[in-house]
Amino acid sequence: MFSQFETWYRDRHDYARRWKERTGGKVFGCFCSYVPEEILVAADILPVRVLGNHEPQDVTEQHLFGMFCPFCRDVLAQGLKGRYEYLDGITIAQSCIHLRQTYRSWEENVPHDFTYYLPHPMHVASPHAVPYLYEELKKFRAAVEQFTGKPLSDDDLDRGIRLVNENRAALHELYAHRKGPVPKLSGLEAMWVTVSSMWVDKEEHTAELRKVLAQLDEREEQFGDGTRLMLVGSENDDTDFIRMVEAVGATVVTDDHCTGTRYFWNETPELDDRIEAIAKRYVERPACPAKDHVARTRFPHILKLARDFDVAGVILIQQKFCDPHEADMVPLRSYLEENGFPTLFLEFDVTVPMGQFRIRTEAFLEMLMEEDLF
Ligand code: SF4
Repeated sequence: MFSQFETWYRDRHDYARRWKERTGGKVFGCFCSYVPEEILVAADILPVRVLGNHEPQDVTEQHLFGMFCPFCRDVLAQGLKGRYEYLDGITIAQSCIHLRQTYRSWEENVPHDFTYYLPHPMHVASPHAVPYLYEELKKFRAAVEQFTGKPLSDDDLDRGIRLVNENRAALHELYAHRKGPVPKLSGLEAMWVTVSSMWVDKEEHTAELRKVLAQLDEREEQFGDGTRLMLVGSENDDTDFIRMVEAVGATVVTDDHCTGTRYFWNETPELDDRIEAIAKRYVERPACPAKDHVARTRFPHILKLARDFDVAGVILIQQKFCDPHEADMVPLRSYLEENGFPTLFLEFDVTVPMGQFRIRTEAFLEMLMEEDLF
């Protein structure tokens, strides 16, 4: 049922190359989930989230310190190895320091026709965040228009907003099928769908997802026996890890990370000024910890997700050396535990020590089962 999404997940570069051949369009690499995809889609540009490949590499040492997060080093390695040679442009919405430096290193060492560093508010709870982003998005729109040679009309922007929102709505419906006592899909399948939505043409992805949604109620395969878990933390698209977690007796039913719900959770509202609508959407979306200080608005959001999806426990994932998540991890852990959700903390590297993580996950699941019994 989910084989198309698995193929898109695995063959992401082939997909983008074929899309270019088929449409003659441009492809932009996006270094953060805060890049306003609506504007790119409106300009007939395919946004492709740049991610790592989870394999050991030795090409980034001269560009990034070893204490940069493994995700950033893995991402840069993909560029240096030429895996994204089909990109016409790259862009980043101001992110954590590690990713910003990764972007700058990529910009210097991997040539592209277009690069754009989009300043983005780091204090998203500030009343100045929307007006600030509004002005920056106008400049970004102008740069995209100059690159494509085509001005964007309100109709174009409406189309971009609609296509991205429709995909978000379909992803929401998919997640709703994970809420009941018998989830209709595994966490691994959900990861294939969500992560592939970050590079597959939105219209095509939504159409495929709609086909699956129409059949899900009738699905015979059951996922109700596993202990219900939530994954929270840094970027996480490691399918081997989630496969292992589900193989030892869990079912992952929801998440809060930037290749999961944080990417699609809220829609762009309908406003007369389309750029203001997009600015509001990116300021008001579930925050990345790099942008959530001092308010920490994401804590109650995570708690609500844990309750709504009725999870028994939470696995907290942190990419090694990730400062924003590290700063949140201790208070987040206490917050979840005080509210009745036991946690397991795991530190990720480019490749994860699967044997050790398996033993720790099994012990965590055992503890959850014992708590359930007594
Ligand atoms: S927020 Fe953390 S995991 Fe994400 S890019 Fe920055 S340092 Fe790496």
